[in-house]
Amino acid sequence: MSGFGFSRRGLLLAGAQGAVAAALLRAPALASPAFTADPFSMGVASGDPAPDGFVIWTRLAPRPLETHGGMPAVAVKVNWEIAEDDAFRRIVRTGTAVARPELGHSVHVEVVGLQSARRYWYRFQVDGIPSDIGTARTAPAAGAAVDRLRIAVAGCQNYQAGLFTAWRHIGKEADLDFVYHYGDYIYEGKAAGTPAAGKPPVVRRHLGDEIYSLDDYRLRYALYKIDPDLRAAHAAAAFLPSYDDHEVMNNWANEWDERDTPPELFALRHAAAMQAWYEHMPVRLSQLPRNGAQLMYRRLDYGGLMRINILDRRSYRSIPLCEKPESRNCVETRNQPDTMLGETQERWLGEGLGNGATWNMFGLGGLVMPFDRSLQRVPTKGYDNWSGYPDARERLVKMIQDRGLKNVVITGGDSHMCFIGNVPSRRGDLESAPVASELHATSIASNSGNGLPIGPDPRAASNPHMALIHDQRGYLLLDVDAKRWTTSVRVVDQALKPGGNISTLGQYVISPDRPGVSKA
Ligand code: FE
Ligand code: CA
Repeated sequence: MSGFGFSRRGLLLAGAQGAVAAALLRAPALASPAFTADPFSMGVASGDPAPDGFVIWTRLAPRPLETHGGMPAVAVKVNWEIAEDDAFRRIVRTGTAVARPELGHSVHVEVVGLQSARRYWYRFQVDGIPSDIGTARTAPAAGAAVDRLRIAVAGCQNYQAGLFTAWRHIGKEADLDFVYHYGDYIYEGKAAGTPAAGKPPVVRRHLGDEIYSLDDYRLRYALYKIDPDLRAAHAAAAFLPSYDDHEVMNNWANEWDERDTPPELFALRHAAAMQAWYEHMPVRLSQLPRNGAQLMYRRLDYGGLMRINILDRRSYRSIPLCEKPESRNCVETRNQPDTMLGETQERWLGEGLGNGATWNMFGLGGLVMPFDRSLQRVPTKGYDNWSGYPDARERLVKMIQDRGLKNVVITGGDSHMCFIGNVPSRRGDLESAPVASELHATSIASNSGNGLPIGPDPRAASNPHMALIHDQRGYLLLDVDAKRWTTSVRVVDQALKPGGNISTLGQYVISPDRPGVSKA
């Protein structure tokens, strides 16, 4: 702890014995450390807006790339405040939270008592040091008419593959209601070596080996979160966090990894990864892992305009089909119908549909539409996506049809390419009538490995249900009102050097009374 400058006040508690030690078992030892470096090195974040508030987040880590972030193993009080203005002249809520060592000194405050559909500013303070100022909008009141919503959809941010330039641009988008993060917030791999000729470049490197332990995952989150562009995006808008595979490891599914790890052992790594995810995301206590299980899926309502279902397509799926000869923990065929969401989540999704919202958005991660990959340089089966779970996809289509819903918009990412298109209603018929629209975002930094040049994709001809197939870094920007859903495909011209510029590649529109996208 050299250089920490831990104060005498705190040390009195840290060195306590006897009766005081017994008391420590009941209550956290609240210490008041004096910081010699910025304790808010990972900035601030907000998330999961409700009509009366949202979550605000930070983590104390004066030396974020050291074990425990350079913090002593004691609980520390952190002050927070919420204001109606960015100068904090009209402060409407204040409080004190406890940053506990059990949670890596992260802080999650579920702020309540705010007005609906309005912008607020927040900040934390410890040892007299203020954090960055963040801003978030509360959701509209239940059932209220909503003029418009503005949403960014982003994810897949492999630190080694590209800079977070797209995050900087998201942070500058005007008046976002929220950012839906479809996962791959971190990647678990070891520090990359020198890439072979013809392979994508490495723009910066992970620290250390592949990550397994809770401290490994914490350090990986810290490495990503100290990036100034990502910090700026979090300060600028509330996030709706989810996770995909790389928050744990590539292509994990339920209790299996793609190696031959016994499920009992994979469960240990999974638990460490899920705790670290909770610690670093602005999510509610209902997302805290309990006994190895975690409830990530949830829904949020934006007045009468939109119901958003954030779905978990990793935790409950059937054992995967074998993608490659070397795949492990997989099967060649299944002898019972497959599931992607699991029975409980699937039923929950169905029960929440048809509530009268103008739009139903599914935050669903991986590609739901079939994709004819035959022209791919190395053709893949796409078994990690819904194409590996055809029964589940058929039931999803039927769930929408049975309720007569025309307003379902599926969004996510994971392919490191952008796909805008229609989910066909009939299995095996790409040109059958659409049942839902799908907006599959590209990636902030991860590359597709396709090695295709930027521009029109040769696979367009064999995928008539898709309006756009495009390989370039960026995100989606959604402008939604009661009559029209406009999707802007936002791309950065490059993410390998600082200063990449943003532009709109194209716009696609959806009407709430007819499934399917069309070019604006
Ligand atoms: Fe990814
Ligand atoms: Ca993924």
